[in-house]
Amino acid sequence: EAITIQELANRMAERAVDVIKLLMKQGQMLKINDVIDADTAELIAEEMGHTVKRVSEADVEEGLFTLEDDPSTMSQRPPVVTIMGHVDHGKTSLLDAIRKSKVVTGEAGGITQHIGAYQVDQDGQKITFIDTPGHAAFSQMRARGAKATDIVILVVAADDGVMPQTKEAIAHAKAAEAPIIIAINKIDKPGADPNRVRTELLSQDLVTESMGGDIIDVEVSAKTGDNLDKLLEMILLQAEVMELQANPERTAEGVVIEAQLDRGRGPVATVLVQKGTLRPGDILVAGAEWGRVRAMLDENGQPVKEAGPAKPVEVLGFQSTPEAGDLVAVVENEARAREITDYRQRQIREKASVVATGTRGSLEQMMNRLQETGRKEFPLVLKADVQGSAEAIAHALNDLGNEEVGARILLSGVGGITESDITLASASKAPIIGFNVRANKQAREAAARDGIEIRYYNVIYDLVDDVKAAMSGLLSPER
Ligand code: GDP
Repeated sequence: EAITIQELANRMAERAVDVIKLLMKQGQMLKINDVIDADTAELIAEEMGHTVKRVSEADVEEGLFTLEDDPSTMSQRPPVVTIMGHVDHGKTSLLDAIRKSKVVTGEAGGITQHIGAYQVDQDGQKITFIDTPGHAAFSQMRARGAKATDIVILVVAADDGVMPQTKEAIAHAKAAEAPIIIAINKIDKPGADPNRVRTELLSQDLVTESMGGDIIDVEVSAKTGDNLDKLLEMILLQAEVMELQANPERTAEGVVIEAQLDRGRGPVATVLVQKGTLRPGDILVAGAEWGRVRAMLDENGQPVKEAGPAKPVEVLGFQSTPEAGDLVAVVENEARAREITDYRQRQIREKASVVATGTRGSLEQMMNRLQETGRKEFPLVLKADVQGSAEAIAHALNDLGNEEVGARILLSGVGGITESDITLASASKAPIIGFNVRANKQAREAAARDGIEIRYYNVIYDLVDDVKAAMSGLLSPER
């Protein structure tokens, strides 16, 4: 492990120039951003009168996300549901319709807000909906190690049937081992043919109950509100079968559903509590950021005193904005929070420097520029069969961006996908896109190990369309 002089100085709360002077005395001429090894750093620190405690990965991560709960402490918790399906099949409409009909209104001054998730009440039982439909956000979370969803609602429009993104959603749900409930939507439309949908689903290995299988399906209309109650009942039924449980009496753990820097309120993150109970005053770590919970708000903008398992709350008080998909854990004190996040930020920097050395300057500059403007980036590694296609695709993907979000092509190359492509992708948690090329065995193994998604295409339009859908998951919601 190595450290820059600046960082060493920061951690000792000494001036970097004094560190440089000391090093000079020992015959080393170094500058502030130069890197020294751990042994040298230790010597310098001791020389300057500091006690050295080397922190290993195990030390830092120990105690986080490892506590298993005793079965006797567990109690039933609400299910967390994500809605997926092809574009225009009614995901957003369904989420809105459910929210409108079910969110407890009448709370003083309550105005429904988009915080990334909401909870509804069905016959005294709660259901949590993740409010960002689509498999892009879903798989992004998964790539970060977060398992936020218990049940996937697959929306299929009764007048359109199984479409490409329906199939992708099924693949994502299956990869996450989340049970699927089919919502056959738009049954109010004249051209609606629910049975055609059921038949088409057969070819995706989804056999609905009426076809003799065990996949639950409900015919709904987001427009008229038809059968929404039934859909919610079916979710509760499925949840009951799954015996979803958590221990509410412990320090909280969860996942960041959404986060942004709010001009007035500072960093704001919606945290879905998965275990334990989160309370104002708690100190929590989310990925490489930490904060002390200053306030928690629900989807009605109302302050919340306690958030137990499956409850989404908007958390104020982070020092800096975490990222969607970051795992959250409450820690005992601020010192511990700093120790963990310092360590993680160092790791991120080290990984970034590894990537940067293998990247051309212009790309590096672009990354810096994007970070400065606070634009969200969608990193990608692109491999194609011929230069012409690679260029055409890169061009089309770059055109997709706006000032809020854009594709960041880490590499656009010609030839099969190799292990080194995976290494590059994995440092940035980027998916790999293969256009008319495949990955070799080593690459496939490395991808599986590092959790890197490889997608194959042979139609540019499909490719661009999918990236577009994925990027829209990064767009900040309208408030
Ligand atoms: P998404 O892309 O899956 O989120 O789909 P949207 O929710 O944006 O819906 C796409 C279009 O279908 C919109 O024009 C909706 O008004 C319409 N739509 C959604 N659900 C229904 C429905 O149940 N019946 C009818 N007739 N139209 C619907």
